Amino acid sequence: MKRALFVAFDQLNSKYGVLKSADKKNDLIVLVESQSMITGADWHPERLFFLISSARHFAAELREKGFEVRYLKAKNTVAGLQEIKDEFPGITFLAAEQSSYRLSKSLSDFGVEFIENDFFLTPRPLFISWASSQKTYLMENFYRKQRVRLNVLMDGDGPVGGQWNYDKDNRLPPPKNYTWPPYLEHSRDEIDLEVARELKMEVTQTWATTRAGAIAQLKYFIKNHFEKFGPYEDAMALDSWSLHHSVISPYINNGLLHPSEVIEAACASFYKGTVPIESAEGFVRQVIGWREYINGMYWFLGEEYRENNQLGANRELLPLFTDPAKTQMNCVRSIVEDVKARSWVHHIPRLMVLSNLALITGTNPQQFLDWMRREFIDAADWVMVPNVIGMGVHADGGQMMSKPYAAGGAYISRMSNYCKSCIYNPKLRVGEDACPFTTLYWDFLDRHKETFVKNHRMSQQVNGLKRLSDLDELKHRAQEVLSGLEKGEI
Ligand SMILES: Cc1cc2nc3c(=O)[nH]c(=O)nc-3n(C[C@H](O)[C@H](O)[C@H](O)COP(=O)(O)OP(=O)(O)OC[C@H]3O[C@@H](n4cnc5c(N)ncnc54)[C@H](O)[C@@H]3O)c2cc1C
Ligand code: SF4
Repeated sequence: MKRALFVAFDQLNSKYGVLKSADKKNDLIVLVESQSMITGADWHPERLFFLISSARHFAAELREKGFEVRYLKAKNTVAGLQEIKDEFPGITFLAAEQSSYRLSKSLSDFGVEFIENDFFLTPRPLFISWASSQKTYLMENFYRKQRVRLNVLMDGDGPVGGQWNYDKDNRLPPPKNYTWPPYLEHSRDEIDLEVARELKMEVTQTWATTRAGAIAQLKYFIKNHFEKFGPYEDAMALDSWSLHHSVISPYINNGLLHPSEVIEAACASFYKGTVPIESAEGFVRQVIGWREYINGMYWFLGEEYRENNQLGANRELLPLFTDPAKTQMNCVRSIVEDVKARSWVHHIPRLMVLSNLALITGTNPQQFLDWMRREFIDAADWVMVPNVIGMGVHADGGQMMSKPYAAGGAYISRMSNYCKSCIYNPKLRVGEDACPFTTLYWDFLDRHKETFVKNHRMSQQVNGLKRLSDLDELKHRAQEVLSGLEKGEI
């Protein structure tokens, strides 16, 4: 064997990364199940199950295709590679660029050579050259360039439909008396059952662990959900855990699906005429815009970016994040229960409920980041760090997003059906029945008014404080709410 090709658990695709040049005669393919990764945190069981079972299936498929594969269980990744080095002295190690600073460094120190990571559509140097030329890193500007560069939904030099962005048409609340399509379930095989047994967990059918299953999920989305994706993109509902979202993030992130095939499938469906432009554009923006932007920003902003805490938020993680029974807030309890059940909720509960709560309660950003990293099936360093530190809790002082996504109960009430059956009232900001989001939203603005009044996108909200005749009472109620949340009683 001349070359050892290292395949990380988020690069499971034989057409991309290091495997695209694999040679059955000369190459040994190496995957390492790192015990320190498995035991390093109290990971959500679905997450571990998904990552491990997908990797074991992938190794088995490569063997069936005739490749020589070592699937090692080792103390950590480098210890696994060392076993290969001991067995084949002089072998060279090759991998695609890794998706975190930590793994990039440990593999590079070991002597692994890297080729470009093509699991994304934007090479890192290209993004860095774009970001370096910008005064503010507005995602919309990057996205328009992506549409042109990748020639997606273009009509000559302009956008198909005449507009770049249909966001305004995509803000409907959940429909009333509506039957959501059933979810796609994924059957289990012997590899899945073995992994579940090892993890001592009850096996569920939520997540696919093979490329065939991931493709089935993509097709299911295109057929059953894509048409309505756009209008209900921001809605949240008690009676549906995924609404019309694609639920493909785990597969794009571990390599089972490639973003280019997702875009091809979406565009093919749009051009057949069954999907309105607001859904097609909205979805394309997520994949070639947001996803690529977040990955680019992770590498552009540097390794220290994750430590930002520019709002000085130092509250301990609230107990409701680990135990949904510790809150009476209907929205939060239902969303944390969904996270516990499946390790996934869509973008708006992540941003406008969970992160919003962490932001306005002044929860320590790194503790919140660690919680999200542990709980979500699609979590990885590159995607969690900018989404949480920059977008979710504005801990970077506005480096990435020009204003914080802080909102009171009115937003959640407008976009969901949680409030009707909640003991709190989203319209009230003081008193025992007041919605904690509404109280804490104003209290948050008041605590940070000196910082935000200088921000032209926030000054109107901050000036709204002047209209509150009950500000003292509100600040008093906010203290009660914060202490009640800490005790798990609100
Ligand atoms: C605080 C916070 C944390 C998040 N953490 C993650 C994470 O750990 N992993 C993750 O993949 N996404 C994360 N997201 C982004 C987004 O919430 C998920 O990608 C999305 O909910 C996945 O569901 P879906 O596949 O149905 O997505 P859809 O709504 O159907 O969108 C299609 C695809 O677009 C991509 N996408 C959309 N927005 C983003 C974004 N902001 N960042 C990266 N990709 C995006 C995803 O690949 C997604 O599969 C986070 C967002 C927030 C606000
Ligand atoms: S009233 Fe407030 S706490 Fe209750 S569900 Fe609505 S937003 Fe959530």
